[in-house]
Amino acid sequence: MVGSSEQGLRLEKYRERSDRFLTELEEEIYRHFAGLKPEFELAAIHERYRDLTSLEQARWIGERVDGDGRMRELWHFACEGFLGAVTRADEERLATLEAGLEADVDGERIAFRMLGPEIANAADRERRGRLERARCTLVDEELNPILLDLRGSLRAAVRELGSESAVDLYRRFGLPLDDLATQCGSFLDETAGLYERSLARLLEMRLGLRLDQMARYDTPRLLRASHWDAAFPGERMLSALKATLAGLGIDLRSQKNVEIDIASRPSKTPRAFCAPIEVPSRIVLVINPIGGPDDWRALFHEAGHTEHYAHTSADLPFEYRRRGDDAVTEGWAFLFEGMISTPAWLTRLLGEEEARELGWEGAVQKLYFVRRYCAKLLYELELHAATDFSAMPARYVELQRRATLIEPCPTDYLRDVDEGFYCTSYLRAWAFEAQVRGALVERFGPEWFKHLETGELLRGLWSQGRRLSADELLREINGSQLSLSALADELKKALA
Ligand SMILES: [Zn+2]
Repeated sequence: MVGSSEQGLRLEKYRERSDRFLTELEEEIYRHFAGLKPEFELAAIHERYRDLTSLEQARWIGERVDGDGRMRELWHFACEGFLGAVTRADEERLATLEAGLEADVDGERIAFRMLGPEIANAADRERRGRLERARCTLVDEELNPILLDLRGSLRAAVRELGSESAVDLYRRFGLPLDDLATQCGSFLDETAGLYERSLARLLEMRLGLRLDQMARYDTPRLLRASHWDAAFPGERMLSALKATLAGLGIDLRSQKNVEIDIASRPSKTPRAFCAPIEVPSRIVLVINPIGGPDDWRALFHEAGHTEHYAHTSADLPFEYRRRGDDAVTEGWAFLFEGMISTPAWLTRLLGEEEARELGWEGAVQKLYFVRRYCAKLLYELELHAATDFSAMPARYVELQRRATLIEPCPTDYLRDVDEGFYCTSYLRAWAFEAQVRGALVERFGPEWFKHLETGELLRGLWSQGRRLSADELLREINGSQLSLSALADELKKALA
């Protein structure tokens, strides 16, 4: 009995310190990216809490994982803390190097990090090609040696956690990697023809190109639809969000645990983000309104996270307030982001014809991203299981080309990877979003977001934080099973 209560105390202390650790990290992220603090001092925080991310700690918790999902979440958290601690030095070296890299293009020195925006802004296709070639060369020569090192350290650390590979470890965390990979294969087959036709039409409309003329450096311009910008002015973003929330019975202004940071500061990041500093008592939604549909989508996405965290019950334990299935919080974020592609919502800004058109364009972009992420998962499963990487650049190109019909740069084979199989969270969140929206349309009609009852239902679901997985939550909502084929059906309808 003494042993088990000592164990219980140690676990309680671990949860409490982990909560403080995340609060300090989120506060630092918020202050830095909101432009309130030029330095970004994560190292000191990690140092202060290093006891949480040791190998010994991860193993100790791992030995106590029982049938209960809660302990498994805590173990998942401890393992990712350890993996993060192992790779931190390489990650920092990489960030410093990246920040200082420059390319020589057309007799001009261009910072590596500016190459992406330069490619998106270059109207001249040949210049886009030269910029892209310079980017790929720098990745190959400067960044990939460190990224290879990093993969080696990760592999060794995963072994220390008792798993053969990251694939094995993440299966033990309960990620449905194999089932999802099968679903991705079916999704890619099922939507191949639809994707090819829709992409060809979008390409013709936006860039005047045929599919066989398209190159990867055209993608940023293909996805950037500047002719819609005037209908989505920056100064109306926040009021549109407030009005949408009001339709659901949520008064953003009176939410005491939600701070809106809309102040303009020179070094504030241009993209909206949500900092869940204390869940649920202090959630910050940071906005730097520029305007355009993408900027509105980003704001609504972050507002979805904000409302989910802000409504999470304070009584839930650490694991279910802060951790749990990432597909749940991403799914709520996508449900809000999806408004900007929903004709029934868009008619408040656009005529009916235009609303349908933007809804169609949004669906093509969505299909591109889902197909890209399906290929990412299939590729990452191979990459994490491989011990020899020599065939990986070719596999990366092959899988991405087949899924997106756009040939990626082979040197991105280590860079275009989300650690911790985060790609699975997006894939499952897209399915969750489509199925929840389907359930809401069925119950409340196409204007489901204008019903107070919808708000009541959502608040009840949000209050559960991340206690349930996306699959369990969906079963609770309408008894259905989370599946990418439901997402395929929604996209087929939107693109018909
Ligand atoms: Zn998100």
